[in-house]
Amino acid sequence: MAKPPPQNELEAYLDEALPPDEMAQIEHALRRHPECVEQLAAINARRDAGVHTVGEIWRRHRLSCPSRQQLGSYLLGGLPDELADHIAFHVDMVGCRICQASLIDLRRREAEAPEVAETRRRKYFQSSAGYL
Ligand SMILES: [Zn+2]
Repeated sequence: MAKPPPQNELEAYLDEALPPDEMAQIEHALRRHPECVEQLAAINARRDAGVHTVGEIWRRHRLSCPSRQQLGSYLLGGLPDELADHIAFHVDMVGCRICQASLIDLRRREAEAPEVAETRRRKYFQSSAGYL
């Protein structure tokens, strides 16, 4: 890597949110670009102060995407409050596009086949009992 890594890559590096080979590339770049180490330290200091970029928050929450089955239970109101709140935050506040798309898809299927949905509803309620 000839150029120093950009800020967003350094942040992903701090989050350990990169594939191993990219993590290694950045470690390599850090050895050649001391100014990046300072930048990393600055990012860390900012985080200690409680300031997070949207990108950081996004990555953190994407790591905790609910499963499709949990999303299905969420739609049907079959989740414990805590998990339902987490999903509402994840989808509405963080705006996870992956989960938004899953919810749209799940809603569409629901509308198409009510009797299939009923079977799925029972299944989701049973499986979500494990989260209680
Ligand atoms: Zn998600």
